[in-house]
Amino acid sequence: MITLNVDLGDRSYPIHIGSGLFADPSLLAPHIRGTQAVIVTNETVGPLYAAQVEAAIGSLGKKVSTVTLPDGESFKHWETLNRIFDALLRQGADRKTTLVALGGGVVGDMTGFAAACYMRGVPFIQIPTTLLSQVDSSVGGKTGINHPLGKNMIGAFHQPQAVIADIDTLKTLPPRELAAGMAEVIKHGAIADADYFAWIEENIGALNACDPELMALAVKRSCEIKANVVAQDEREQGLRATLNFGHTFGHAIEAGMGYGEWLHGEAVGCGMVMAASLSERLGFIDVETRARLAALVRAAQLPVVAPDLGEARYIELMKVDKKAEAGSIKFILLRKLGEAFVTTVPDADLHATLQRAVIH
Ligand code: NAD
Ligand code: MG
Repeated sequence: MITLNVDLGDRSYPIHIGSGLFADPSLLAPHIRGTQAVIVTNETVGPLYAAQVEAAIGSLGKKVSTVTLPDGESFKHWETLNRIFDALLRQGADRKTTLVALGGGVVGDMTGFAAACYMRGVPFIQIPTTLLSQVDSSVGGKTGINHPLGKNMIGAFHQPQAVIADIDTLKTLPPRELAAGMAEVIKHGAIADADYFAWIEENIGALNACDPELMALAVKRSCEIKANVVAQDEREQGLRATLNFGHTFGHAIEAGMGYGEWLHGEAVGCGMVMAASLSERLGFIDVETRARLAALVRAAQLPVVAPDLGEARYIELMKVDKKAEAGSIKFILLRKLGEAFVTTVPDADLHATLQRAVIH
């Protein structure tokens, strides 16, 4: 097992990474201080893993129950959140009750937000079971739900007590979801660590096959990179925005195709190729670097050719992105492999990049 520490002063917490961890009572024990814990999961993940987590918490002499939510991003809204509150209130959950998020990013974001709100804040533990949630959503304290008028628009910062990332849970994950998580892994190398990027290139075959040792190393390095950025910029004043590399184009693809058509990671994979292409056009990176990124995205079984939404639609969608301020679109570009920065770009270069992205 590898343990990292996310350094946020009195809100610091450990991330445990390895195999055979998700139902280990000794990892849960220090973080369940009251008499009760409530596991929140969904109808896909619950049947696979909830009984073991319940047994582990029960073995600590704590009262434990499970709330099972419907599966999917389309349920990440107020009504589903209320089901968590209903269960907590019915069971007489008090201020010391610990919530345990058992699932992917949807469950993690909703459980974290429920924990932020219930009785003005109760502790929670993240047990992320998708690659995306292990390397991305479980780290950093952003929690929330969607609103009909915007994704993740209602939320709070609420840091977990601990994250338990068990590589074994990835064995049951559909391959397409694993690939989507790899997009964020590749992103971490591209924006923060060229050596890590080269390591992913060397090992992409084994990572696609979910080799447990290599995957644990990838989750570790990705969590380190994300935790390091978050520690420097918890509330996204500047540096944290570089984690959105590939996401400006990616969100436009997701929204333009209709949410759910392309997985988030697929859109981000393609979006990173577009952002690299823009970085090359503006003279920051060379053609080889752009080609390496595109080759790695492709090797991770992710799309590299953008859907042809039409240039006007791309621009319209990017302007409503949360990161756009006063109508100017912010792009995260690569200054070089392993270093990213935030900027606006001339219209002509954006135009040329969008033209190029849809043809190959
Ligand atoms: P998800 O939670 O929808 O999980 C994907 C699918 O895999 C679901 O059908 C789920 O039930 C299933 N699943 C999960 N674990 C499984 C397992 N071990 N075996 C079999 N099936 C399993 O999607 P996700 O990609 O994990 O997360 C996406 C969400 O994360 C989005 O809502 C996004 O907004 C959010 N997010 C949040 C942050 C943040 O900082 N809070 C960052 C990135 C993404
Ligand atoms: Mg993302």
